[in-house]
Amino acid sequence: MITLALSKGRIFEETLPLLKAAGIEVTEDPETSRKLILATNRDDVRVVLVRATDVPTYVQHGGADLGVAGKDVLIEHGGQGLYQPLDLRIAKCRMSVAARADFDYAAAVKQGSRLRIATKYTNVARQHFADKGVHVDLIKLYGSMELAPLTGLADAIVDLVSTGSTLKANQLVEVEKIMEISSRLVVNQAALKLKREPIRRLIDVFSNAIPQR
Ligand code: ATP
Ligand code: MG
Repeated sequence: MITLALSKGRIFEETLPLLKAAGIEVTEDPETSRKLILATNRDDVRVVLVRATDVPTYVQHGGADLGVAGKDVLIEHGGQGLYQPLDLRIAKCRMSVAARADFDYAAAVKQGSRLRIATKYTNVARQHFADKGVHVDLIKLYGSMELAPLTGLADAIVDLVSTGSTLKANQLVEVEKIMEISSRLVVNQAALKLKREPIRRLIDVFSNAIPQR
């Protein structure tokens, strides 16, 4: 049995075409089913649904043989015990700094001000501001980061941006791009040895089915 860990939503949706290329079709719809283990048309493949941030943990400890996780999630997790053979180029977005339109971020940085940064991505944020030589107080949040600058909790946020419409709806502007984000295939290292043939085959098929651009 091969167990693939996916998160509901965009990662699940965007992984389906890759699975299809491998002849795998998930036979239950995660949006309507309450099941966390989904069967496929193949007796030897199943999908487990976990939170996006839990995918690396499941794969690292063998709760799943492989999974799909965003680069954002992998950096925060650390990637220990994970083989990362492929950038699947799905669920693309970028990690950026955003602030209120009336906050002069560039001036604050130039003056060497200490910045209060709210984010779910404390590792990425810590590294980014250390590289710039900017002193920051990091405030860890688990969601709705956009609210932090509006309520005075923080001067700026580090968050994922795709179209920018969520920022816009909250009168925030993207003031700095940190990195491009996409999702990767991650594989449990022991599974790669024990189930080498089927996993290699999947990696090969996925690799040829990755969306171009
Ligand atoms: P939840 O939204 O349920 O709290 P989450 O934010 O961790 O959980 P998703 O929103 O499904 O889960 O995001 C999963 C992954 O998709 C992220 O880790 C990231 O790599 C990518 N992603 C997140 N937001 C966007 C976006 N706006 N555009 C494209 N990809 C995104
Ligand atoms: Mg989300």
